[in-house]
Amino acid sequence: MDVLSNLHEADSDEIAVPAEDEAAMRCVQLLSDAGLRPTRHRLALGQMLLQGDHRHVTAESLYDEAMAANLRLSLATVYNTLNQFTEAGLLRRIAADGVKSFFDTDTSVHPHFYMEGEDVLVDVAGGLAFSKVPEALPGHEIARLDVIVHLRRKRVSS
Ligand SMILES: [Zn+2]
Repeated sequence: MDVLSNLHEADSDEIAVPAEDEAAMRCVQLLSDAGLRPTRHRLALGQMLLQGDHRHVTAESLYDEAMAANLRLSLATVYNTLNQFTEAGLLRRIAADGVKSFFDTDTSVHPHFYMEGEDVLVDVAGGLAFSKVPEALPGHEIARLDVIVHLRRKRVSS
């Protein structure tokens, strides 16, 4: 990809949202509360992601969704925007394996099932209780606790 056009795209101008577009205005508010300028791409992806039910997406799955909605942006822009949302605390990144990162719109600590080979991440219903969380090492505190239960299809014996 052309680096300059990518930079230009990532730095798209702030846009003016008509006040009667309430969903967009809520998204503008959400972004500015998180310290992000409401650019065209942030607003488009923010409205797809941050309003409605909690979701788990990858950069690729969100890119496909954006293409289906006729949004003109690159996979790199989707990835950059997801990272900006994550740094601003709007999303939580979950590394399911060495390659694949999911972005969770529910930023609370909660356990997940990851279906290996199917690239699907879902919440474990009912939560998970820990009877004993380890003490942090001296001079440290626990920053977060990730629990991913990896699932695979049972082999059907023939
Ligand atoms: Zn989740």
